[in-house]
Amino acid sequence: PITKEELWNQIKAKFYQEIGPVSFDTYIEPLSPVTLTESSIILEVPADESTDIIDNWNKSYAMSFVQYAMEIAEGFIKPELRVAQTLTKPAQVLNDNLSFTRESDLNENFTFDKFVVGTGNENAYAIARAVAEDPGRVYNPYLIYGGVGLGKTHLMQAIGNAYSKTTPSARIKYATAEDFLNDFTESLRAGEGATAAFKKEYRTVDLLLIDDIQFWSGKEKVQEEFFNTFNVLTKTGKQIIMTSDKLPTEIVDLQSRLTSRFEAGISMDIQKPDLPTRVAILKNLAETDNLTIPNDVLELIADKIDSNIRTLEGTFHRFEAMLRFRNKPATKETAQQILGDLNINQGFKITVERIQQVVADYYMQTIADLKSTSRKKDLVTARHVAMYLTRTLTNESLPDIGRAFGGRDHSSVLHATNKITEKAESDARTKEMLDALTDEIKNGK
Ligand code: ADP
Ligand code: MG
Repeated sequence: PITKEELWNQIKAKFYQEIGPVSFDTYIEPLSPVTLTESSIILEVPADESTDIIDNWNKSYAMSFVQYAMEIAEGFIKPELRVAQTLTKPAQVLNDNLSFTRESDLNENFTFDKFVVGTGNENAYAIARAVAEDPGRVYNPYLIYGGVGLGKTHLMQAIGNAYSKTTPSARIKYATAEDFLNDFTESLRAGEGATAAFKKEYRTVDLLLIDDIQFWSGKEKVQEEFFNTFNVLTKTGKQIIMTSDKLPTEIVDLQSRLTSRFEAGISMDIQKPDLPTRVAILKNLAETDNLTIPNDVLELIADKIDSNIRTLEGTFHRFEAMLRFRNKPATKETAQQILGDLNINQGFKITVERIQQVVADYYMQTIADLKSTSRKKDLVTARHVAMYLTRTLTNESLPDIGRAFGGRDHSSVLHATNKITEKAESDARTKEMLDALTDEIKNGK
């Protein structure tokens, strides 16, 4: 992945070309990148020039930034401007000196507020809340497990963020299992002083968050070290929270003394969210970004992406970029264009031919019939349905669809799709039939 410096340098180059040296020196050059996450970058603004710079960013540069970032990093990255602290915070400085791991800070976006509770995560959420209220007491250790992109890291960090708010003096350490391993190895290599510093870093905290412990599978030394860390912390009533992609007992080559220690606390899984939860997550994203998007469009996106919240968010951000930068309307068609790209990797590749074949079979016609000029009633309906499905399931333009259906013009395609859209809205059976055909086109019978 690209580093924040690389990304920022490439974006600066684009700005320079676009706005020229004077504006560049005033509004772009003074900023420096602080933290880059998957979807945002924090840019620090010098305090004395901040008002002017921030104004101008809001007015014009933020948009360009997102566009450039899309081109460079192929993802939606939101710039967040932060005014540089003029006073150095002593606690922070101290921490930084001690800190081994890079990027080990809590992500401030991972809060309970931004965590949508629904089927699949409600139990894990309830325990997380209880732990954040009274860490070290109720559930210790707390282990959250489940599949990729379902919110484990978010929920774990939400505990850290909430506790740091109610108890600002608390020492909270977040590290991935890999960070922990690297820090440990590094401390061994660097000798005695470093070992002490490592211990201080991980053993003198109130909350220790370790992400993705399945990474320690088969790595004896680090497991031993964590066993010791674990014992020191729990003996003094400090809270440990971990995540994993499976139950500890299912992690290959994880020492049983660790799994039995973990069983003294609680493990809770996060499952895939159901449709209403996915829609609620999209609604939240839209609200955060001040976008008004009709429900049926959100439902379409949520319906298609059902197993990974990270992918759901990514898709939403691509959709958002289409609205903002290509001035596309917030409609199902626009969403479909983005979803169309994804469909290629799932089940059947959706082509005009595939759609024509499935629809022709369903109506007991042939593809040649669909392309013909015959106006037999059944056939006309079949043709309309096939054009409608081509329009909604592929990126083909109206004229291209017309051509694929025997050289019709774009207005007949439009007429056909409107007709079927209306029918689907007023008649549940039609809608059901379209859903079934769509499913078959994508996944086979
Ligand atoms: P995991 O650690 O399980 O792989 P993450 O915690 O990184 O997953 O979540 C992936 C993305 O989905 C993050 O951007 C996170 O904010 C978002 N996310 C996950 N669960 C929820 C939820 N319940 N509500 C809102 N956003 C969520
Ligand atoms: Mg994670």
